[in-house]
Amino acid sequence: MTTPSTDTSARRLLIVGPPGAGKGTQAVRIAEELSIPAISTGDIFRANVSGETELGVLAKSFMDSGEYVPDSVTNDMVRSRLAEDDAASGFLLDGYPRTLDQVEALDGMLSELETSLDAVLLLVVETEEVVGRLVERGKEQGRSDDTEETIRKRLDVYAEQTAPLIDVYEKRGLVRRVDGMASIDEVTAALRGALAGR
Ligand code: AMP
Repeated sequence: MTTPSTDTSARRLLIVGPPGAGKGTQAVRIAEELSIPAISTGDIFRANVSGETELGVLAKSFMDSGEYVPDSVTNDMVRSRLAEDDAASGFLLDGYPRTLDQVEALDGMLSELETSLDAVLLLVVETEEVVGRLVERGKEQGRSDDTEETIRKRLDVYAEQTAPLIDVYEKRGLVRRVDGMASIDEVTAALRGALAGR
């Protein structure tokens, strides 16, 4: 028997929304406030691409074409990250799960850890606004997948493969919708409110 956690601030959260919705920016802010790690699969992949690891070499071609990295690879990566000590009292996953298979894999990982999700934060944005933001980010940060063609592809892949996840989590009563079109500070405040209202 494991002792139940007495840490009342423990949170196991996802942040979901299309590319360019502001997930990464908001995840870092909310995670810091809750003293939990923000775990971005995109960031982990990018670090591996920069480091030219085996995983990075594999991920790069998928990322550059706006496709998802295969589930088996992504799931293993998340499983080891969630097993690290800093994730024991909570985490905010950004960019995972993104497919129905990944939802199932995450369910399995959490049940192995004898825990479950507390909430799914959904950032609601307009597609055309998102394209504009991503084109800007591409210019500022030089992200190789922020070209207009790849952005459109990523939005299509999101609509096809990731949007259906929202229904799954909706049925579990976990989804908290937040307007992602407001200013960065306003969105952070709304997310805070959404979490407090649970
Ligand atoms: P992001 O930074 O979350 O926009 O992710 C950038 C890219 O990394 C995506 O377009 C995918 O190619 C890859 N990626 C990130 N997270 C996942 C995931 N959960 N499953 C598959 N591919 C992912």
